[in-house]
Amino acid sequence: MAHDCIFCKIVQGDVPSSRVYEDEQTLAFLDIHPVNPGHTLVIPKRHALNVFEIGSDDWMAVARTIHRVAPALEQALGADGVNLVMNNRENAGQVVGHAHMHVIPRFTGDGLRPWSHGSYKEGEAEAVLKKITESLQ
Ligand code: 5GP
Ligand code: ZN
Repeated sequence: MAHDCIFCKIVQGDVPSSRVYEDEQTLAFLDIHPVNPGHTLVIPKRHALNVFEIGSDDWMAVARTIHRVAPALEQALGADGVNLVMNNRENAGQVVGHAHMHVIPRFTGDGLRPWSHGSYKEGEAEAVLKKITESLQ
């Protein structure tokens, strides 16, 4: 367990939480400050800071849990959709330093707008794409 990590404490049961689902590798629990009712966080039980640090096996386990929990949330709450969101690093809005995916039930007319969209200038998309594909080599 990472020293002073609030989500590790939740995994251990040292900090109370509303547990939605758990298996050997993952835990899903209600976010204490929900965007909408049912807003759930899915985390690996093993501490990792973010998507850059989590092992692929734990990442796959988190994905499996989301795949199971998201339809249950939607059905149970009568939601009209679900957003999956992950903030990685402070500049991307990460506050808690233990990797977590937000599963956010959405309701028609709830008025939430996760982010606004821009557009590419002439040639910009190609330049961006080149950088990304080269980084993936
Ligand atoms: P982040 O901005 O790091 O992606 O999101 C962290 C989330 O964790 C926030 O939505 C916040 O409400 C939630 N959170 C922070 N502390 C606790 C806690 O002690 N218990 C629960 N259940 N959620 C927490
Ligand atoms: Zn942790």
